[in-house]
Formats: sequence, C-alpha cells, structure tokens
Amino acid sequence: MSTTAAQPERVLSTLNADGTRRWLKPRPSKGRWLNRRRMVGYGLIALFVALPHLRIGGKPPLLLNILEREFTFFGTTLYPTDTLLLALLLITVALSIFFFTAMFGRVWCGWGCPQTVYLELVFRPVERFFQGTPGKGKGRFGAAGGLLKMLVYLVLAFGLAHTFLSYFVGTDNLRHWILGSPLNHPIAFLVMAAVTGAMLFDFGFFREQTCIVACPYGRFQSVMLDRDSLIVGYDRRRGEPRGKKGQRVKPGSDVSLKVVQESDELGDCIDCTMCVQTCPTGIDIRDGLQMECVNCTQCIDACDAIMDKIGRPRGLIRYASQRTIDGEGRNWLRPRVIVYPVAITILVSIMVVLLVIRAPALVTITRGPGNPFTVLESGMVANPIKFKIQDRSEHGGEYSIVLEGVDGGRIDGLTNVRVKPGETFAEPLTLVVPPEAFTTGRLPVTIRVRGEGFDKSSEYTMRGPVHRAGGS
Ligand code: SF4
Ligand code: SF4
Repeated sequence: MSTTAAQPERVLSTLNADGTRRWLKPRPSKGRWLNRRRMVGYGLIALFVALPHLRIGGKPPLLLNILEREFTFFGTTLYPTDTLLLALLLITVALSIFFFTAMFGRVWCGWGCPQTVYLELVFRPVERFFQGTPGKGKGRFGAAGGLLKMLVYLVLAFGLAHTFLSYFVGTDNLRHWILGSPLNHPIAFLVMAAVTGAMLFDFGFFREQTCIVACPYGRFQSVMLDRDSLIVGYDRRRGEPRGKKGQRVKPGSDVSLKVVQESDELGDCIDCTMCVQTCPTGIDIRDGLQMECVNCTQCIDACDAIMDKIGRPRGLIRYASQRTIDGEGRNWLRPRVIVYPVAITILVSIMVVLLVIRAPALVTITRGPGNPFTVLESGMVANPIKFKIQDRSEHGGEYSIVLEGVDGGRIDGLTNVRVKPGETFAEPLTLVVPPEAFTTGRLPVTIRVRGEGFDKSSEYTMRGPVHRAGGS
C-alpha cells in the first residue's frame, strides 16, 4: 500500500502546481478602507519625495550618507564612532517593529511599506489604465497598452530610483550627478541605472513575490503576532458553512450573484470569491491567517460590498484580533505589549542622555610609524604620533593642541586647526621633550585639545632614552 502523502495543490499562492508563475491580476475593490489607504499612501509618497529636500538646521531630516559615513536623523548626525548610539538606535527600531506588529499586525505592510504603497497605488493603477481592469475589459489602448505601460513604468522607476538614492547620497550630490555628463560620473551613472532597473524589475515583474518570498519581515510574522494582534480576518463562525443559496438577485445589484439569504443552514459567506479575486497576493483569507496576507484590506472592501448587496451586516471580513473573531473579549494587557514599550522607553532615555553628554569632537591619538623615539641634533627627544580629531558639532570648530606636564616640551606640526562640521583632521605630529625628562625610558605626558566648548586632555606615554644625572 502506498504511503505517499498527497501533494498540496499549490505550495505558494503565486506558483502553479507545475512550477510556473501564477500571474495575479487582482480586481480592485472600492470602499472605505481603500479610500483611507489612498489618503495615507499618497500622503506618504508626497513625504517620501519631499523629505530629502527639507532641511532641519541645514541638514535633511533623514540622510544615510554611506559615501561619507554620516547618518543624519532629524538634524543630528551620527558617525561610525558613535557606535553605541547607532546600536541603540537599531535595537530601538527593531523593538518598535516588534511592538507595533504585536499590537497592529502587518499594518506596516498594507499601509506604509513602499513596496505595497507604490505597487498598489501607483503601478497597478497605471497598468489598469493602459491594459484594462480585470472583470471590466482590456482597456482602450489595445495591443499598444503594454508598451505604453512599460514606458510610464520606466519614467516612474527612474524618478523613484533618484528619490531613493537621495536618502543615501544627498540631494546635492544627486543634482551634481544629474546635471553632469555620465562620462564624468560613470560609477554614479551605473548605480543609478542599476537601481532604476531594479525598480522596474520589482514593480513590473517581481511584484507581490517581494512580499511573499523575499521580505524577511513577512517571515517573522508567526513569532511577532499573537491571538490579540490586529489582523484582517474572516469570521468563520458567521460565514460558515458557505455557499450559494438560491436564485434571488438583490434589486439594483450590478454583480450576477444568485443568492437567497433566508436559508437557515448556510452562513453569510455566499462563496462569491470576490475576496479572493481582489487579493494582491492571491490568497483566500477564508483559509485563516496566512503569511502572504499583507493586510491591504482589499478583501474587507470586497466583502463589505457583497454584504451590502445581499442585505447582511458588514464585517464578515474585518480588522480584528483572532481572539475577538473567535467570540472572546479583547485582551489588551499581555506581557509583550508591556515589555516592549518599557524596553523602548529605557533605550530612548539612554540615547537622549548620550546625545546630551556627547562631546562636540572626538580625539584619537596613536603611536606614529617608525622608531618610537629619536634623539634630535639638539639633544631633544622626539616621538612621532598620529593625531586625529573629528568634529561632531553643527558648526565646526577651531582647535589648538598643546603638550602639558613637561617643562620645555612642545609639539611640532600643525597645532591650530579648523575642522568643518562632521569632518576629520588627521595629521602626523611630533612630541618633543628635553632628554632629562626621561628617567625610566617612559614619560607620561598630557596632550590637551581645546576648542569652543571643548577641552579634552589625553594621557600619552612617550618613549625615550634612560637619562642619568650628570651623563647620557
Ligand atoms: S467576499 Fe465575502 S461573501 Fe464573497 S466569498 Fe469572500 S467572504 Fe464570502
Ligand atoms: S487576504 Fe485580504 S488583506 Fe490579506 S493580502 Fe489578501 S486582500 Fe489583502
């Protein structure tokens, strides 16, 4: 007897049983949730485009300048040396995502993620304009529709890629690159072309696959959600057993539903599959919460419209927690919604304190290359050092460097410097002291750096010959 388990009909909503891509053409569903998502989505697109051009204290609100290794958040710039602050920031962002997801499920995916916002509110509407809406014909452009769509996609991807890159290189660099010849900036041009191509591939071809197979956030859902998280869910208790119940069509209905609702045996779901046809990830929400669901709410609008037509209350599919859908009361106070906010509050407090006490400059002194010391013709002992000062203030500063703790000691080299905001001054300097300062071959000295609102003394141990009184 064969013990082979039956193969599932479909392992992925976008994959046919024979392994070919199942292309999705979701049917758009109008309704109150789509209206709300449009308002939020178009507002976010406007913000996304405007943000790199805004300035807070002369800096963009958000700039992850990888080229110059500067990370600006609302006017405050962090550098790679701000390791603790950057680490705390990343942990805070991660915990906020955990908390937000525990409370509101995948609301980010459906309402805020650029992948969903641009695909559902920009690229798909363009496709429907040129190639028709599923269920409503092929559109007015005929065979040329596909080509026209791709041309508009190219322009959109081009603009999107430039906006995206401006968050990493800044609008000034970007303007410089755009206005200059590609031959003057071949690397920048290639990066731009590659990002434009990636956008075109994503929104023109890969589409919902990004959410289903590529995005790590989607994979983490099972551990971040619980029965009290807000989800888009189907009310099985109300909807099942599903089925078409007769031959009556509600007057005025524009869909060919053949329904009688008075039947006692069947639930409210008339199995019209409108919730499935409208789903941009190709799933059936009636099968329960699935990893592919991005909480786009299209199935809510689709089903609400059907409920209106058959005279049943809205909300067979709705935003609710699994617990309330199952008929239990909402449980607001759970360990994770207490632990996450407490941890976030502590981390944010630490970051604020660190930012307040953060020095406006960072000084680094290391031993210079070559011999640790040399004896000059004058008899003075010289030690090479590598001196580095990074300005972390908003306005830059002038700094003076002096040697303290040794009579007759000095520093040879550039000891008065002006450093621009965010820039680093690095120079080899030489510490020079009289030989009689050495008695053991080692001499602790102080290198003091002063600037406006900055005074830092660094201890340093010089090397030199052992000096004996009355001889060398
Ligand atoms: S849209 Fe509503 S009524 Fe139609 S199949 Fe989906 S759940 Fe059932
Ligand atoms: S199941 Fe509903 S909410 Fe989830 S992705 Fe599909 S249409 Fe959107």
